[in-house]
Amino acid sequence: MPEMQAKSNYGAVIDAISRFLAAPPEGTPVELIDAFSQLGDKRFLPPRLFVETVEQSPVAISITDPSARILYANSAFERLTGFTREQVIGHNESMLSSKSTPLSVYQDLWDTIRNKLVWSGKLVNHRANGEEYLAELCISPVLNSDGGVAYYLGMHRDITEMHRLEQKLRFQKSLTEAALDAAPMVVAMIDGDGRVLLDNHSYKALQGDFRGVEPAELFTDALKAQIGSDLLAACGEGKGFTNVDVRLDPPSGRMPRWFTCSGVRIAELDSAARSFFKAGASGRCCLLLIANEVTDSRERINEARLTMIRANMAEQQLVQTMREAISASIFQFQVPINIVKAALSMSASAGDKPGLGAALSEALERGEEAIESLHAALPGPSAEQNASVNVNELVHEVLRLSTERFLASGVVVDWRTAPVLPALSGRPNALRGLFKYVIDNAVDALNEAGLDYREIRIETCTVDGEIVVSVMDNGGGIPDAIRLRVFEPFYCGWEHARNHAGMGLTMAEEVAISHGGSIEIDRDFLGGSRVFIRLPYPDDGEA
Ligand code: FAD
Repeated sequence: MPEMQAKSNYGAVIDAISRFLAAPPEGTPVELIDAFSQLGDKRFLPPRLFVETVEQSPVAISITDPSARILYANSAFERLTGFTREQVIGHNESMLSSKSTPLSVYQDLWDTIRNKLVWSGKLVNHRANGEEYLAELCISPVLNSDGGVAYYLGMHRDITEMHRLEQKLRFQKSLTEAALDAAPMVVAMIDGDGRVLLDNHSYKALQGDFRGVEPAELFTDALKAQIGSDLLAACGEGKGFTNVDVRLDPPSGRMPRWFTCSGVRIAELDSAARSFFKAGASGRCCLLLIANEVTDSRERINEARLTMIRANMAEQQLVQTMREAISASIFQFQVPINIVKAALSMSASAGDKPGLGAALSEALERGEEAIESLHAALPGPSAEQNASVNVNELVHEVLRLSTERFLASGVVVDWRTAPVLPALSGRPNALRGLFKYVIDNAVDALNEAGLDYREIRIETCTVDGEIVVSVMDNGGGIPDAIRLRVFEPFYCGWEHARNHAGMGLTMAEEVAISHGGSIEIDRDFLGGSRVFIRLPYPDDGEA
């Protein structure tokens, strides 16, 4: 590469010098004319034009002999250095050195040019008045007909101001980065394709907590589920957002994390040449995402909420137990009534024994009255309103409410959630009840199996427009023969059936179906049982 550059520069030098030779300006050093006459031909520009070009060039140009003794310098050289031609001609270029350029730079310069290659770099020079400046220098070797170095052509310009601006920019960049890194909130600049252009320490720490998953992706998914529109597209249209709460679920069942997010649209300035005269022309649109972690305060609010839910569920449980007990009584009462009905019809057909028909009719009437009063006493289903629910949150609440039971039964809970789930419209208490039935059953199954290692694994994910919650336990499992019967009312397959009316899975199924979903026992699961609960969510992700 340097050789190619050397060749093209070398060609340019020959071209320029050949034109100079036709009419060297008055006062041009004899050595210079001698040097130029060894090079190039005279086919191109008129020589005077060459001289005028070199003379009027805004770049400081000098020509030296092989030991850097100056033979020629143009007017820009005089203006830039403050030295007149008379003061520099015959002197070494080192007279410009401010003596603060490291020796290694000069060694590199000389190693390069003595090898007949072009050297470019930066040197610290001083002007005639002693003022220092940063020079950007390009030195091309000029070869004689034998291929040896005859002269060096030096061109340099003052880049002090540019360097100052660069340093200022660098300082401002490091200042911005330091400020961003010191900020406790997660900050990321995301472009229209979802790529992260800039981030901070908190962002990287979060990435570590989520095992390398890009937090920008998690936030955009969570915000999409929360505010229901494509965030980057919305930002492209100039819409920002402020203080939207999102929940992210870390892997391996660690506590959920809460963030309050704001997004600001930042339009990158268009750096294309054609946009130079269009003031304020903007290029790509980016989103500056600022996410403030509020897990602690959210935890406190959740604790209070959990107490309320606990009370609510206890009441629900009480009503449920009453419903189960009364339903069981109605169910059991129906048996003798059916017998009385049969006896009545038999006695009627066999010829009524005196008084028996009347007694049976009265027994039947009383029995039906009793069933009616039991029906009247049956507490009605609670009229719960639909709300936007996050399934991860509901399952997590149920797990927290069951913690004491897990500890008492020595159960290890492996909680594997999808980091973000779409919201769905549902009855939170009913859904909590559903999850609690299934999880309680898993604990019961483990207690009955009596194994040393007892584990419940709960996973959440989305499949084909449905949120799927799977609850696995390593207990005795559910034989295929009763896989469907377990959902029948009053079916109880536990060996120790105390406190079990056999209505739990019936209720759970009722709740799942009323949410347009289903509950199913995985027939292929080995080493325990696995229950799938599927709940459809709306297409647009809106709750
Ligand atoms: P020096 O002792 O002169 O040189 C330092 C080191 O450079 C030496 O140890 C040696 O490794 C190497 N060196 C020096 N001269 C030669 C040589 N003739 N052959 C081989 N190696 C050598 N310097 C500036 O500071 N500012 C300029 O603007 C500048 N412009 C130049 C333009 C041209 C066309 C050329 C050819 C050189 C230019 N130089 C410039 C380099 C200059 O000639 C000096 O080498 C440099 O200034 C260091 O000078 P010094 O007296 O501090 O040390």
